[in-house]
Amino acid sequence: MYKYNPASKIAEEFINHEEILETLQYAEDNKNNEQLIARLIEKAKLCKGLSHREASVLLACEIEEKNQEIYELAAKIKQDFYGNRIVMFAPLYLSNYCVNGCTYCPYHAKNKTIPRKKLSQEEVRKEVIALQDLGHKRLALEAGEDPKNNPIEYILECIDTIYSIKHRNGEIRRVNVNIAATTVENYRKLKDAGIGTYILFQETYHKESYLELHPTGPKHDYAYHTEAMDRAMEGGIDDVGLGVLFGLDKYRYEFAGLLMHAEHLETVWGVGPHTISVPRLRNADDIDINAFTNGISDDIFAKIIACIRIAVPYTGMIISTRESKECREKVLKLGVSQISGGSKTSVGGYAETESEGEMGSEQFEVSDTRTLDEVVKWLMEMGYVPSFCTACYREGRTGDRFMQLCKSGQIQNCCHPNALMTLKEYLTDYASKETKQVGEQLIEKELQTIPKEKVRKIVIENLRAIEEDNRRDFRF
Ligand code: SAM
Repeated sequence: MYKYNPASKIAEEFINHEEILETLQYAEDNKNNEQLIARLIEKAKLCKGLSHREASVLLACEIEEKNQEIYELAAKIKQDFYGNRIVMFAPLYLSNYCVNGCTYCPYHAKNKTIPRKKLSQEEVRKEVIALQDLGHKRLALEAGEDPKNNPIEYILECIDTIYSIKHRNGEIRRVNVNIAATTVENYRKLKDAGIGTYILFQETYHKESYLELHPTGPKHDYAYHTEAMDRAMEGGIDDVGLGVLFGLDKYRYEFAGLLMHAEHLETVWGVGPHTISVPRLRNADDIDINAFTNGISDDIFAKIIACIRIAVPYTGMIISTRESKECREKVLKLGVSQISGGSKTSVGGYAETESEGEMGSEQFEVSDTRTLDEVVKWLMEMGYVPSFCTACYREGRTGDRFMQLCKSGQIQNCCHPNALMTLKEYLTDYASKETKQVGEQLIEKELQTIPKEKVRKIVIENLRAIEEDNRRDFRF
């Protein structure tokens, strides 16, 4: 039998089933323990995070008043660490060829109805130009797992193509990659290609369910998948993104597993997850979510996000267009720091819109179908600063260097001015008239909140140079 050990590199030791069961029991036993919950909230206020056990108690907490305190604290921690900035990104689907048998994903190998597509380099170019014309600077690459159709060489070639395209004032400055678990050698190649974050969703931490949900293909190997982040770190990638696909197994189990994974990375590599994603299962080509019984309500979803924010204060949290405008609005307050906008989940979806009636290659149905311009305007009207910044990674502030910046609260000093300058680029190059108007007013207001006068002066000069001299890419 495996014994819980966060320092171990064996999947079933750092994500330990017995430890999770005991954690869930502890949380259940203490869900109305007012004294303990009050103590945990006090501890969380120190912004040093909570263990998976402690956070699981807060997730289970049934005391209404304490739950309110949890939400308020999550909102405060979000504000303290990330301010009012929201980082923008878009997914780019390269290929939906896949050899796996994931029962919840329409890319699964046995699906004969979904049209299979893989972008040629010329098509990647068209997609990137379309994405640049929307205003995007940061992408998350997505692909199925297929060693013949999408080998690592193909992914690397796409990354090269993407970084090489400079269309008008556009450029993609950070490429994050969400592809199947791979070898240390391949992670090293991705690192050398200049990727930002390597993202891999665990889908479920529950091994038995994992094996059932991934009945065939290389992804069936639970240990290989679960240990992928350690191989990525070994390959030199120090920004990794975790995630669970909520709806597959019981959310409390997943929550504990996710936090144990974060603790494991901190223990072994001294750096926790750069980001945590919280996707929820959606209907898709031949996937009906009614066949899955562990779906969660919007309220539980919000509670999970608040508890992750409290437990891992430094991590970026990502939400995609799987979620509706209303849901996104709620969770932005509680901890989410990155959102996608104007997303297409089909292969080739940005350059050409699939005509109605034509069978799509989408991975799942998008809930928030607004354009990027609409999302940007909506964020600004709520007082957020949409940020197209990619500076940290390009200035070498990755891994523990980024974490130190974030944990010390210093993230505010360079990130806020960078957000304003990249927003200005967006407003100047891509925004509609109304969005530009709202944005210019917001920038004016936000400039006053830059504490150092010297920095403020530089930012004001750079904003002028963006507008009048057509200069781009200023950053601290
Ligand atoms: N193929 C890669 C892998 O195996 O990790 C990752 C790329 S896949 C395009 C990205 C993610 O989409 C998956 O990790 C999964 O969590 C999510 N996904 C798959 N089917 C989904 C569905 N029906 N609804 C919502 N998300 C889904």
